[in-house]
Amino acid sequence: TDVVELDGVSRTYPGGTAVRALRDVTVSFGAGTFTAVMGPSGSGKSTLLHCAAGLDRPTTGRVRLAGTDIASVREPKLTRIRRAHVGFVFQSFNLIDSLTVWQNVLLPRRLAGKRPDRRWAREVVHRVGLTGREHHRPVQLSGGQQQRVALARALAARPDVIFGDEPTGALDLGTGREVLALLRQSVDEFGAAVVMVTHDPAAAAWADRVVFLADGRLAGELAAPDVDQVTA
Ligand code: ADP
Ligand code: ADP
Repeated sequence: TDVVELDGVSRTYPGGTAVRALRDVTVSFGAGTFTAVMGPSGSGKSTLLHCAAGLDRPTTGRVRLAGTDIASVREPKLTRIRRAHVGFVFQSFNLIDSLTVWQNVLLPRRLAGKRPDRRWAREVVHRVGLTGREHHRPVQLSGGQQQRVALARALAARPDVIFGDEPTGALDLGTGREVLALLRQSVDEFGAAVVMVTHDPAAAAWADRVVFLADGRLAGELAAPDVDQVTA
């Protein structure tokens, strides 16, 4: 089943010379599928992710997220849909300073009214290298550690769909591999739909499928990519 469907989505940023960031994009992201989104800088990858996640609104076209057509849905219903179904592994942290690492990591499932999966959360915390930091608050951590908390929080929640914008871009190699393995596991064990923007062919090789954007249009697709194909 498709967790996210974009149907004829265009997004134009108005202005003196209007930018057509997305042009008539139709694409779906299914449960249990790991999709990488690649393309040159400025090709519309972030805009696609933001529209798919309901963080931005298409100029024309429809977006279905977890069964709801979100084009006409306003906050706070959109917030409820996101809380119930969506995880973000973005560069920005948005950690809650008054909560500990562990409380931050458990928060999304609480907000969604679900019981925290402590066993999985503990494994995620361990694998992103935060064991021993559970009782620290974000201000007591380095920038890199804070980013890992944000990653752990998204992964621990076991959402139906996980959006990642260059999730491994700023990580050391070892942590990057763990995050990719955790995304892979989220797909294989929990049936998540993962949609990850990346420039890195080695990261894309963890995906089941790569979709390419060029100049705001869908420009191609690869199934079961390997690194050489993505680089070529
Ligand atoms: P990518 O993620 O592939 O680098 P983006 O989706 O960020 O591409 O951007 C696609 C195009 O839209 C680019 O030309 C970019 O400059 C433009 N763009 C992105 N965000 C905005 C914005 N908020 N206002 C105006 N133009 C934007
Ligand atoms: P609360 O519901 O009171 O917020 P939590 O569910 O956040 O409690 O945590 C339950 C207990 O587990 C707390 O005592 C917390 O300190 C402890 N804990 C902290 N870190 C971990 C961890 N990595 N793995 C398992 N338990 C942890």
